[in-house]
Amino acid sequence: MPQKTKHTPMMEQYLNIKAQYPDAFLFYRLGDFYEMFNEDAVKASQVLEVTLTSRNKNAEDPIPMCGVPYHAAQGYIDTLIEKGYKVAICEQVEDPKTTKGMVKREVVQVVTPGTAMDLKSQDGKSNNYLTALFIDETNHYHLAYVDLSTGELKVTQIDTKEELISELISLKTKETVFMEGESIEEQAELNTKLGILISTQKTVESAEPLIHLLGSVESKNKRFVLNLLLSYLSETQKRSLDHLQTAEEYTPSHYLKMDHYSKQNLELTSSIRDGQKKGTLLWLLDETKTAMGGRLLKQWINRPLVHKEKIEARQRIVENLLNHFFERSDLNEVLTKVYDLERLAGRIAFGNVNGRDLIQLKTSLNQIPLLNNLIQGMNENEEWTSLLKQLDPVAEVSDLIETAIHDEPPIAIKDGGIIKDGYNAKLDEYRDAMKNSKQWIASMEAEERVKTGIKTLKIGYNKVFGYYIEITRANLVLLPEGRYERKQTLSNAERFITPELKEKEAIILEAEDKSTALEYELFAEIRETVKNSIERLQNLAKAVATVDVLQSFATVSEKYHYVRPLMEKGSQEIELIDGRHPVVEKVLGQQIYVPNDVEMDKDTQIMLITGPNMSGKSTYMRQLALTVIMAQIGCFVPANKAKLPVFDKIFTRIGAADDLISGQSTFMVEMMEANQALTYATKDSLILFDEIGRGTATYDGMALAEAIIEYIHQHVHAKTLFSTHYHELTALEQELEQLKNCHVGAIEEEGELVFLHKMLPGPSDKSYGIQVAKLAGLPEELLEKAATILKKLEQQKPVVQEMAESVAENTPKIQSTALKTKKAPVESTAEQQISLFSLEDPQEKEVIQL
Ligand code: ADP
Repeated sequence: MPQKTKHTPMMEQYLNIKAQYPDAFLFYRLGDFYEMFNEDAVKASQVLEVTLTSRNKNAEDPIPMCGVPYHAAQGYIDTLIEKGYKVAICEQVEDPKTTKGMVKREVVQVVTPGTAMDLKSQDGKSNNYLTALFIDETNHYHLAYVDLSTGELKVTQIDTKEELISELISLKTKETVFMEGESIEEQAELNTKLGILISTQKTVESAEPLIHLLGSVESKNKRFVLNLLLSYLSETQKRSLDHLQTAEEYTPSHYLKMDHYSKQNLELTSSIRDGQKKGTLLWLLDETKTAMGGRLLKQWINRPLVHKEKIEARQRIVENLLNHFFERSDLNEVLTKVYDLERLAGRIAFGNVNGRDLIQLKTSLNQIPLLNNLIQGMNENEEWTSLLKQLDPVAEVSDLIETAIHDEPPIAIKDGGIIKDGYNAKLDEYRDAMKNSKQWIASMEAEERVKTGIKTLKIGYNKVFGYYIEITRANLVLLPEGRYERKQTLSNAERFITPELKEKEAIILEAEDKSTALEYELFAEIRETVKNSIERLQNLAKAVATVDVLQSFATVSEKYHYVRPLMEKGSQEIELIDGRHPVVEKVLGQQIYVPNDVEMDKDTQIMLITGPNMSGKSTYMRQLALTVIMAQIGCFVPANKAKLPVFDKIFTRIGAADDLISGQSTFMVEMMEANQALTYATKDSLILFDEIGRGTATYDGMALAEAIIEYIHQHVHAKTLFSTHYHELTALEQELEQLKNCHVGAIEEEGELVFLHKMLPGPSDKSYGIQVAKLAGLPEELLEKAATILKKLEQQKPVVQEMAESVAENTPKIQSTALKTKKAPVESTAEQQISLFSLEDPQEKEVIQL
């Protein structure tokens, strides 16, 4: 065996600690630097672009090393975290001055992507959720999540993998904790497909001291996953977690269900194009004034309600706000002065608040009585009563800060200057001593000038010599020999001291030392006292956030002239008069946008929408979905009149987004999506299918589309908007009682296609594919050829019976409704393929949109 290199005691210590944190960069504190060694150093030097050196360079096998200065470490830590790594911060936990031999070092915190706070990339209006997952023997998923900065702690049970993935995506979790060695496949899947960092826990023992956070959660598995999450938190954070809120159980079925495709497709909180907020429903609705409000709005959009009463409770407040224009603008002004109470509470618990944070807290709390007054003034029909109860100004805390903390305190908490005069008698004594002695020194200066006749005599101070009397060289002749004690000679002056001066100096310095130490002590005490009110502060934060979101709804509703929708549970009627797609309308402007009605009485289940590409079919469908979501979060809706049922689920298949999660082909995803809807939709659901079937050959596509429509009509009974290019399908109106045709109007003017964007009853007469291709700038020659082929095709009348049957056989769900379409199959020729390009090619839309 080769001789093992003997390490220095320091390296020995390093390696021992590093062995406990194999999956994190170990930031090992050495004086003013955090050092990294071995592979950590090599990797960190690349990621952070810092110089890689080595320890004992001349040795046979030098140890790679790199370091970052301690005072600038935060930036480096943030960079590593943003790239998905973990950082274990290892500090000296003994004072090197008083220690003999090796200073003891310990990891004081492991920062991880799911536990990081205040990252640059995290805007105040987003949460950073750490999740934990436990899968039981019956394959149910138990999911817990926490936002360390706000203390929000939730737990739920999820039954299917699809729903789990939807939930993880909508939480935007960056890190999930599993039990070590369990559910290995799922661990790998979440990591590779969703890019989530997987962390593991050996035991859940360290959650013991936090057991009270489990509150009233009874289910064994939910308690287990909470323990898993909490033990990971306590082992990584190694500090007070007092601000965590008692776990709250939630049930996904208490909310309007949407899978992640739908959320993505409908661009609820991030756009399809670049994942940004701009162009989303969140972007439209966000007129919140506080960071807490911003975060709550996002949560509401992701989880619309299904309880009519709760929806109406929100609507009543929005209405009330709309009726009080002036109070609302005062309210907004007050809200802008409220800082992020939730995160402040988190920082208080973590022990990293400074004087300025407390002043922010006070300023925020001082707004609450104003908020209360304003709301009380508007509370005509008790709409606000329950919220008012939660608007607790926590006056003890604001009073304490008012009496104790300077209005403009420094950032540092250990250098004094934070505590107000009059708060603590001892501190006042020290300050008096300092003040008196300083005054004494000032008068000594004046007196000595008179006594010596040296006008430029001055008393100064520096850290090395303390207080001194300085006399310029030119004036030295005036100084009687032996009057002062000589201390230091400069090139053009001499510095002196006297015993009295030194005496006062001692008093000042001692008082200064003592007062800064005392100030720090007092500050820590105040922080502890405030900590006792964390729960109240968090409840207040929730109430303020709610007020903020509701005022945001009122502001937006007023700005864009939305109306309060009338909600009817279990009703099968939709009546939207002059509805608009709120985001498209905002982008295009109200003058350009053409409003459209959506009218489906209880006998209309399915609207079959035809019309040329680019005419506005998918905008119309999205309009309905967004309107439903807006209504069910309690906002007003973009229409002149609105009557809506309360929907339980929304399924959408709009656009051809590739499935990044399972790597399936577009057509496969389309079919899977269709299957989801057909399986899980109820009569209270909303289904939006945009050109289903276009991802395959024309005839199977058409056959499937027809079979799907029939299946929904006969078995599902959900309200459905179905857009299609297959004009043949419009004949279904005769067979299916609850299906209605409609189309988006377009006209040809002097050979040019003009979109009316107006939804009209009945089927469209033509699909105008060639005209759209012309708008897209395809060569004239090609267009002429396509027109000729089209003419020829239109004279043939094919039947697709055979194709339809073969498709139906292979699609179990749809089997029951074999097709009765009327055209015969045609041999596919090159010419026809060109014609199909302008009619049904799945690529066509993309081409035009480019
Ligand atoms: P389709 O689904 O029929 O191909 P889209 O719904 O994608 O068409 O609409 C195409 C474009 O037409 C939209 O990007 C929008 O700019 C415009 N548009 C759609 N509906 C309207 C409308 N009601 N009023 C004004 N412009 C509209």
